Amino acid sequence: MISSPKFADLGEDYFSRVDTQKLKNSHLIHVNKDLQANLKLNLTEEELLAICSGEKKLGEVDPISSVYAGHQFGYFVPQLGDGRSCLIGELNGYELSLKGAGTTPFSRGADGRAVLRSSIREYLCSIAMEGLNIPTTKCLAIVASDTDVYREHIESGSIVTRVSESHIRFGHFEYFASKGQNENVKKLADFVINHYYPKLKGKKCYLDLFKTVVQTTAVMIARWQAQGFAHGVMNTDNMSILGLTIDYGPFSFMEIYNPAFICNHSDSQGRYSFERQPSVALWNLERLADSMRSLVDEDELKDALAVYQSSLVKEYSLLMRQKFGLLKVVDEDSTLINDFLQLLYTNKRDYHRSMRQLSDQKEQSMGNEFDNWFERYHKRIKQEIEKPEQRIQLMNSVNPKYVLRNYLAEVAIRKAEDLNQYDEIETLFNLLRSPFESHKGFDLYDSEAPEWAQSLELSCSS
Ligand code: AMP
Ligand code: MG
Repeated sequence: MISSPKFADLGEDYFSRVDTQKLKNSHLIHVNKDLQANLKLNLTEEELLAICSGEKKLGEVDPISSVYAGHQFGYFVPQLGDGRSCLIGELNGYELSLKGAGTTPFSRGADGRAVLRSSIREYLCSIAMEGLNIPTTKCLAIVASDTDVYREHIESGSIVTRVSESHIRFGHFEYFASKGQNENVKKLADFVINHYYPKLKGKKCYLDLFKTVVQTTAVMIARWQAQGFAHGVMNTDNMSILGLTIDYGPFSFMEIYNPAFICNHSDSQGRYSFERQPSVALWNLERLADSMRSLVDEDELKDALAVYQSSLVKEYSLLMRQKFGLLKVVDEDSTLINDFLQLLYTNKRDYHRSMRQLSDQKEQSMGNEFDNWFERYHKRIKQEIEKPEQRIQLMNSVNPKYVLRNYLAEVAIRKAEDLNQYDEIETLFNLLRSPFESHKGFDLYDSEAPEWAQSLELSCSS
């Protein structure tokens, strides 16, 4: 059943009604059919295009864009908001949002558009993250068009339809708190509790809400770190209150293992480098805590924050142990794991392929530098009680064969932009939604970047 997005219940302090702006010659280039079915969105392709291009409303619902604030690269910006996105309705508990459907009152002089390149990347990464069991917003469809959009050079305008239970960010809380509107902070917290965490209702509900956000954020970050995902722009306005990965911009999966990896070419200081993500998320949670001070005692917020690190380490260790097939807990395991990562770093090895090779038992091909380590690893593995097949199955269920490497996305983008061919998007979509299985005939898709792709750069421009 189509309805207004829940978010609209909050009232007009929280959003503005907007009109979507048409794209020239819009057409659908990919639809997530499973998601469409889950949403029970029974529409013809033509009807779906009309909705996802913003040409027709979903039911009778007026689109809305929300207002939020945020700390961007450490500096507080008192008003941001949905500058190029709007909620168009809700289906089966999921809000639908169009990204790139034109300007809103929060566009701050920008064009309200998204380019095809960035829509394809967001679409593919959302399904890749889902495939990797990392909490994320989803995407329903990509619309392409002939509308010119000006970035470093002229690109074409596009809309990606995002789907999430909620698009509320830390920045929504920061906006009202920074204006001293404590009643509105409370109303927002009540809204989140009522709709997303009803079990928290009770005496200490605001503290419990904060604890929950700390916990879900810790789990999300742990999974990013274990699967080598770098977000690129971890501003507080890009942090979801539900602990979902949100706002895909210059993200990258780390390929050659390097903890200092910076995926965003515009991030010259490396504020959001791969290894800093856990501490940045904590810093962002501290900003959320600041904005909840009218609801929760400061010391209680501090105590709740103190749990972040242990939650993160717990989840991260669990995943890393599975990746190495170490079920039984032995004291020296973390040294063994770290020594392997150090070897990957010094020998400039691909993170994902190396991890997947652990279960392929092709360690010989990793080179002499690894001999000593494998000797220790084999000794250690003998202490496991599970049968080797079971261990290998477990390892292969957490070490992906297929990862959204930048060059793979680039090939799909080039084909779409230059040739209007979308088959590569379909191929990647299918591989990435089940990245742990070997797909027959697609072995090459787990290859490392070819030479031409080694200098690909990603910036905030999208
Ligand atoms: P981001 O960090 O990319 O999620 O975006 C930061 C802020 O800039 C958000 O408020 C966005 O809505 C806004 N924004 C980014 N690109 C555009 C654009 N092309 N037009 C309008 N607003 C934009
Ligand atoms: Mg954003």
